[in-house]
Amino acid sequence: MFEVKPYPEFSWSMSRHKTFFTCRRKYAYQYYVSHNGWRFDAPPSAQEAYFLKKLSNLPMYVGDVLHQVIHTLITNYRGKPLPPLANIEKHVRDKLNQAYRYSQNQQLWHQKPKDVPLLRELVYGETPEASAISDITARLQACLEHLYQSTSFQDIMQGKHIHLYESEQFHSFRLNDIKVFVVMDVLYENEARDIWTITDWKTGKETEEDRNQLALYAMYLHDTYHIPHNKIEIRNEYLATGCSRTHAVEVEDLDQVHDMMLLSVGQMLQYVEDVERNKPIDLSLFEKQEHPQKCASCNFLKICQPSP
Ligand code: SF4
Repeated sequence: MFEVKPYPEFSWSMSRHKTFFTCRRKYAYQYYVSHNGWRFDAPPSAQEAYFLKKLSNLPMYVGDVLHQVIHTLITNYRGKPLPPLANIEKHVRDKLNQAYRYSQNQQLWHQKPKDVPLLRELVYGETPEASAISDITARLQACLEHLYQSTSFQDIMQGKHIHLYESEQFHSFRLNDIKVFVVMDVLYENEARDIWTITDWKTGKETEEDRNQLALYAMYLHDTYHIPHNKIEIRNEYLATGCSRTHAVEVEDLDQVHDMMLLSVGQMLQYVEDVERNKPIDLSLFEKQEHPQKCASCNFLKICQPSP
């Protein structure tokens, strides 16, 4: 039976880790204050934090829609003629226009908060500059062209002896008794090579965390499906540039992500006063961002009021 708990269950993910190290106060809003904020009887502070947590922004939303498009293509068009890129580009543009309209009608969003995307720029009264829109359009076109040329996409769509296992599914597993969430963009097996490939499509820039994220997915695959590490390869497809990076899973990768997770969890738990219930310390004790200029694009700016 569904039970409303006063505090969220503690878990760990790469995105939680990134938020924690971006700003402790943001982390508190995102993972504690917003808890139960979707409920009509939640405190206004939780409702507001939940509302802000759900905001997207133009580059992020383009990335989300592209991931949805890739998922649709690889689950419905394998071995079939692919739609022209112009049709996909139009679809993405239509979705962006729809998000724009929804962002101007927040009443609609309150009826379907899980389905309707809101754009931060519009909610905060910022008009996207023409140069930002043209950058996004150029990136969208580049991402689509590079997608069709990418190794992973060609393997999945036309490759022989390829078994597609999953795409965009949400999973959890336990690591050192901590619940860890993972969402693999795509997982497929090349039976002829006896290799399982985990691919992450990136629509933004390369970061140092990218390989760690894939190593975490390899841990999940090994833990859940008992696939030996030497039969797993991990790959980032950077769609904006067309660059692809494929790695074998090395012991150092696994050790690094394991140590990083333990360190991160240890630090996160310093902000919890009751570990069993995951009750956080007072919000005022979650430090604000030290560089207020970094707050300009934060979803929680409205309720945080950072120091000048
Ligand atoms: S506005 Fe700045 S200090 Fe406040 S939560 Fe966001 S990033 Fe942190």
